[in-house]
Amino acid sequence: MTTRAQIIVKGIVQGVGFRPFVYSRASGRSLNGRVLNNATGVLIDLEGDAAEIEHFVRELETNPPPLSSIESIERLENLVPLDYLDFRIVESDSVGQKLVPISADVATCDDCRRELFDPQNRRYRYPFINCTNCGPRFTIVESVPYDRANTTMHVFEMCTACRDEYENPLDRRFHAEPTACEVCGPRLRLLDAHGREVCGDAVAIAIELLRAGQILAIKGIGGFHLACDAFSAEAVTRLRSRKFREDKPFALMARSVEAIWPYCRVSEHEMTLLKSAARPIVLLQKKRGTAIPQAVAPGVNTLGFMLPYAPLHHLLLEASDRPLVMTSGNVSDEPICFRDDAANERLHSIADYFLINDRPIHIRTDDSVVRSFDAREMVVRRSRGYAPAPVRTAFEFERNLLACGAELKNTFCLARGHSAFVSHHIGDLENVETLRSFTEGIEHYKRLFDIEPEVVAYDLHPEYLSTKFALLLDDVSAKIAVQHHHAHVASCMADNMIDGEVIGVAFDGLGFGLDGKFWGGEFFVADFCEAERFAHLANVPLVGGAKAIREPWRLAAVYLQRTFGNQFTRLDLPFTRQLDPHRWSALNSMIAVGVNCPETSSMGRLFDAVSGLLTLRNSINYEGQAAIELEGIADTIATDSYEFEINGDIISAEPVIRKAVEDLLDEVPAGQISARFHLSVAQLIVNIVEQARAERHLNRVVLSGGVFQNIWLLTRVVQLLRQHDFEVFTHSRVPANDGGISLGQAAVANARIQRGRLT
Ligand code: ZN
Ligand code: ZN
Ligand code: FE
Repeated sequence: MTTRAQIIVKGIVQGVGFRPFVYSRASGRSLNGRVLNNATGVLIDLEGDAAEIEHFVRELETNPPPLSSIESIERLENLVPLDYLDFRIVESDSVGQKLVPISADVATCDDCRRELFDPQNRRYRYPFINCTNCGPRFTIVESVPYDRANTTMHVFEMCTACRDEYENPLDRRFHAEPTACEVCGPRLRLLDAHGREVCGDAVAIAIELLRAGQILAIKGIGGFHLACDAFSAEAVTRLRSRKFREDKPFALMARSVEAIWPYCRVSEHEMTLLKSAARPIVLLQKKRGTAIPQAVAPGVNTLGFMLPYAPLHHLLLEASDRPLVMTSGNVSDEPICFRDDAANERLHSIADYFLINDRPIHIRTDDSVVRSFDAREMVVRRSRGYAPAPVRTAFEFERNLLACGAELKNTFCLARGHSAFVSHHIGDLENVETLRSFTEGIEHYKRLFDIEPEVVAYDLHPEYLSTKFALLLDDVSAKIAVQHHHAHVASCMADNMIDGEVIGVAFDGLGFGLDGKFWGGEFFVADFCEAERFAHLANVPLVGGAKAIREPWRLAAVYLQRTFGNQFTRLDLPFTRQLDPHRWSALNSMIAVGVNCPETSSMGRLFDAVSGLLTLRNSINYEGQAAIELEGIADTIATDSYEFEINGDIISAEPVIRKAVEDLLDEVPAGQISARFHLSVAQLIVNIVEQARAERHLNRVVLSGGVFQNIWLLTRVVQLLRQHDFEVFTHSRVPANDGGISLGQAAVANARIQRGRLT
């Protein structure tokens, strides 16, 4: 007897071989019917033996294809049989296609890697090998539905052999849209700095050039990398000076996890992260005295490693245990190059050679950066391999939303239903090109996911380009401003799928506050809708505005003055000996009259001040450097801590500074002072949230903001809070830094819509 059932599978992304999987399993069980994408997901119409249908569903539930990320499986049973004669994959209408999300890019799978190194295979050593389980996706998609004609692969016409595979439902390249081979697909070319082609085996020559200390611009999946031999201190230093990047750590690529062991500790969980299909850069604890030159990552105790994720990377690294520096192909803080002509123009003064290919990249995506914390993944930069997969939310978005994000580390977010499509990392919205990536990115996501926003959410900071963009939009029904640190807290709540009232701790560099001052050392009692400022660091003058961010000594001087008065210059400290009295007196008069001295309650700036006080550095070369180096020197064990002074809702750091100075005068080592300072911040958090718990009967603590990327601090804070029986929430799926702001804005805007507050 024939039974008919319909199965609706939700959450499946395009281009991961889900329909061919269904085809092979259904025909294997002699089930007839159809599989197609419809408006709700993937629809499987099945006819045949009831027991076989049962087995089919069980297999789908327990053993789905690796990348399918199934959200739910629903079943409609006892339907009238239609007497299908076979099983078929049916082309979907465009409505159905649009609602099926586009997959993120996927690292080369094991099957393809085997073929890549199999001399008998027709794709032996072909640098663009891929299949339905791997290869570029999001970076080559121009439009929907996801098929070859709508990707940058449409310029390559498939050869007969490739087409046969592509059309065979039982082949692992069935509808693998970017499939290609030596005969019909993209090709590598090696050019010198003058654009002249170098003859011979491009990969073999590239390997030799890298060995000889040359710098190569290598076109990858989401853009260009600049590569050099990680062991050559000379090449690494040359790369730094040509790129105008003094200290910011370079990422490394190693052949395998085993090839990382000599340099870093790798835990079980970190190994899983390294090997995941997204292949992010994983920040790992550096071992002492490794052969990796200091110049790769000066002043920090981590190294960022990733494993090969494109066939070309496997070819470049297969024969060598030496890691490569693989840093983003850009000059200084510009966005990463992804178009051939632009790369030639911008990178020709940096790279000695160019390893390029003729497969266009449609969307630029940087490498993602993650670390392992508390046995969970903690995303630091969410980009290639992650975007454009939506961040699922526990709540449902009432209206289609666009959230514009912050200024630094910008991401935007389009939201609908239970999905927040947080964009790939756009970058710092400080130049025309990044702004273009932002505006074009929004249009692209709107088309791909068919979301026309009715409401736009934005930061309160009037000077953010993302804010200006939001205020200029004229086709939305409401615009909702969200305070920066409320967005941080909401972001972490959405990240952890929690709801209701929490104690929120938002520590970061700077964000525009409700009083027009720069906040950043904030405690809230908050839910998605509202955030009440419960306590905060006392304001100090940010003397010189943006200059104070680049020069940590300014904040050190400000804090010393507040603690000791103008006599602080007479203290016998390395800091005061270095202090230029003329520059200080100029600053001092600025403070006295309040010129160019916006006030700030930022915790990030207090970290800068302590770093400055320890004379770790006078000026920084990348965002957060002073605080990162302060963490870098902190002893693993702090014996005791300093104490903040709490007066009502105002927290004063003066006693902390006073004790740190006493320690300096007693010649306590800087590593110990740093550790004591970190511990005092952790203790402060415990004290304030204890107070909030007593007054408000709340037990959940949410930690967000860039300061909580400091693992030394975060580890102690989480540990202490748990000892005090708090439930602690940290970031995992979106960054604690401003890359997570867009998700928080979307969550707050949605809550306000629900309560009818459309401003
Ligand atoms: Zn594959
Ligand atoms: Zn071919
Ligand atoms: Fe922030």
